Amino acid sequence: MSLRIIRDQKTSLQIPDRETLELLNHQLEKKNLDEFLQWSFDEFGDKIVLGTAFGVSGMVLIHKIATLGIPITVFTLDTGLLFEKTYDLWKKLESDYAIDVETVSPILTLDGQAHLYQPQLWNNDPDKCCYLRKVLSLKKYLMNKEAWLTGLRRSQSETRKNISIAEWDNENKVMKFNPLAQWTSERVWDYIHENSVNYNPLHDEGYSSIGCFPCTTKSISDKDERSGRWGNLDKTECGIHFPLSQKNDL
Ligand code: SF4
Repeated sequence: MSLRIIRDQKTSLQIPDRETLELLNHQLEKKNLDEFLQWSFDEFGDKIVLGTAFGVSGMVLIHKIATLGIPITVFTLDTGLLFEKTYDLWKKLESDYAIDVETVSPILTLDGQAHLYQPQLWNNDPDKCCYLRKVLSLKKYLMNKEAWLTGLRRSQSETRKNISIAEWDNENKVMKFNPLAQWTSERVWDYIHENSVNYNPLHDEGYSSIGCFPCTTKSISDKDERSGRWGNLDKTECGIHFPLSQKNDL
């Protein structure tokens, strides 16, 4: 299958219409993960990147591209507020797989953010903090890319239950692929154990989803993988996957 359906010419990515996306999803759903990852690199080359926060889904994808020898660049949004154990895992997988994970940093340092807004902005305005530390940096990073891969799964939360394998990311004007959309948590963990893939030890301490340390607690509910993220707030996403309304009054 070719992605010519969403290109006028090789250098110009066109916004796919609904029919095109449906067709693409129909075709991609038939591919296994190996076939999908190879296809994505064949189609986009160095214009496709894999984003990870080092959760278990990301570990599956990184293990796959490394073992298949597909040279897709891996990047992470380093807010400067990750757990020490996450930074340790980052270093370990770079050595395990002989890869460099590209660091995407916020435009503002933590001190700069504290000075311009307030110290510990995450306490009073986490949407703005996520926008400054994640959404803006992702937008800048993806400006010269055509597509990104994520570890999003439908079973992770209510917010994610309707995601497709192929989507148009209108915020960043690139294609977004969620190749594990149909995977359950059990399937991910089976893969991790069967292939002896390293993962964040915080998972064994009760954290099913791991983000920045000020906004992550152990899981509150067995039924919601992301229940420990912003657990005391009516906030479920940082905004890189589902746009938040608050972002223009910076
Ligand atoms: Fe800030 Fe918390 Fe969002 Fe991290 S998760 S960017 S600390 S609000």
